Amino acid sequence: MAFVVTQRCCNDASCLSECPVDCIRPRPEDPDFATAEMLYIDPQTCIDCGACADACPVDAIYSEDELPAGMQRYAEVNADYFERHPLDAKMIQPAPPGRVAKELGTLRVAIIGAGPAAAYAAEELMRRADVEVEMIDRLPAPHGLVRAGVAPDHAGTKAITTMFEATARHGGFRYLLNVEAGKHISHAELMEYHHGVIYAVGAAADRSLGIPGESLPGSHSAGEFVAWYNGHPDYADRVYDLSGERAVIVGNGNVAIDIARVLTLDPDELARTDIADHALAALRDSKIREVVLLGRRGPVQAAYTSPEFLALQRLPGVDVIIDESELELDPASRAALDDPYTEPSTHLKVELAREYSQRPQDPDRKRIVFRYLVSPVEVLGTDRVGGLTIVRNELTESGGDLVPQPTDRTETIATSLLLRSVGYRGQPVPDLPFDESRHIVPNERGRVTAADGTPMTGVYVTGWIKRGPRGVIGTNKACAQETVAGLLDDFAAGKLPAPRHDRRTLHALLAVRQPDLIDGSGWRAIDAAERERGKQNGRPRVKFVSVADMLAASRGRLPA
Ligand code: SF4
Repeated sequence: MAFVVTQRCCNDASCLSECPVDCIRPRPEDPDFATAEMLYIDPQTCIDCGACADACPVDAIYSEDELPAGMQRYAEVNADYFERHPLDAKMIQPAPPGRVAKELGTLRVAIIGAGPAAAYAAEELMRRADVEVEMIDRLPAPHGLVRAGVAPDHAGTKAITTMFEATARHGGFRYLLNVEAGKHISHAELMEYHHGVIYAVGAAADRSLGIPGESLPGSHSAGEFVAWYNGHPDYADRVYDLSGERAVIVGNGNVAIDIARVLTLDPDELARTDIADHALAALRDSKIREVVLLGRRGPVQAAYTSPEFLALQRLPGVDVIIDESELELDPASRAALDDPYTEPSTHLKVELAREYSQRPQDPDRKRIVFRYLVSPVEVLGTDRVGGLTIVRNELTESGGDLVPQPTDRTETIATSLLLRSVGYRGQPVPDLPFDESRHIVPNERGRVTAADGTPMTGVYVTGWIKRGPRGVIGTNKACAQETVAGLLDDFAAGKLPAPRHDRRTLHALLAVRQPDLIDGSGWRAIDAAERERGKQNGRPRVKFVSVADMLAASRGRLPA
């Protein structure tokens, strides 16, 4: 018997150091770590000790004989990985990096942003130095996309915030929430109060489709829709028309799958989650029975990960529909699949798509329809979305990639709700350089670089604004470790000028500039109030969705 990693894996590799026989892969130093969909345990080597399961921050690891119903296939997924990547018993774990010498004094760092990338940077700083960290975010609640992006029915994934809050309880850590860098305090001022500033501001903008009709009412960005159902205060007052029977999502990544699930799940199931109340009420009235996901390439190149695709098998009351004819592979995709170096997860995606295509359909159930090799060319409608013209694609090789090329075959899909889920994009950060083509802050392993390529003293980035919107939550851990390593090297080398003012002066300044500042105790009051509201309703929490309500809760004045 062995332990098995399942769909919820966050890839932050907390389990790796706990394994006495070093049988979990890939490791952060392995070439495929950055692109891995999840981690895997070698069933041949695992000694069944359970240490990894205890260490997993999102409870994604189970003993093989205790795998929940519908998850048994992950045992095969784990084993398959090691067929392709046999474990090299002689591999030696690199020595963990040491702490910065105490004699250098207390390092002071501001982290802008409070999502996973920021939290992992704080954790690494606390682990490796005597440090004071100010975590600054414009919202009254931390945790970024874990709070406002992870789907409400993925409660296990949200459990990672327990680990982030453990870091926040460290004596040197302070939350400064409801404070906007660039508005309440400038970059130059932040530099006066700290040795270094790490920007972990993510990639907040959505990519657009660039087709006619895209801005018609009824066409929305997926990121904003996700923020709406998760109770993000900037989007809580959005109204979505769910009165039609069909929604179409352009894109077939994990965000698109999340939205498809939320739109088709029984609202009574959603009522057990932390979905925002306004979204739950709207979804109870929803008439949507079918959600169509459009992928511009084929099943071999699909953007979703195999664990999320596999998990759709367990979706109660919903059929996954795939037309078998769309699974015919072109010669290049077939060759890619036959390539012995192709990841088992790609084979699994194709296998699952074939299985879905063979399943009997029940007209009484809702449907999630996956379409492949199609692209939108025009949103139809005069005063609002009425449909979408799509074109059939063929894949052609270009520069080593398989690129979709439109054919002359088009069709129309009727819909009143169009969601664009074609990726996120970083936005410029005040006072920092910006790479307009890659939509990131230019950097060298996390050190921000000026236009001439020289590093800017004391300025760092981590997460999506550093590397672009790729990877899962845990991918940010290795990313943050790299950035923090650079910052600590600069500190140890005496390259970071000492701050001119201390923490007390900073807090006094911000208290004047932002009287509604929310600190750690304020956030904990919000958190406790949300959980209490949840307890009364059999839910993990009931979120406050306005800044005013969060502010009141932070001061113990609970809104009704
Ligand atoms: Fe390693 Fe023990 Fe987890 Fe097996 S159960 S992968 S031996 S930590």
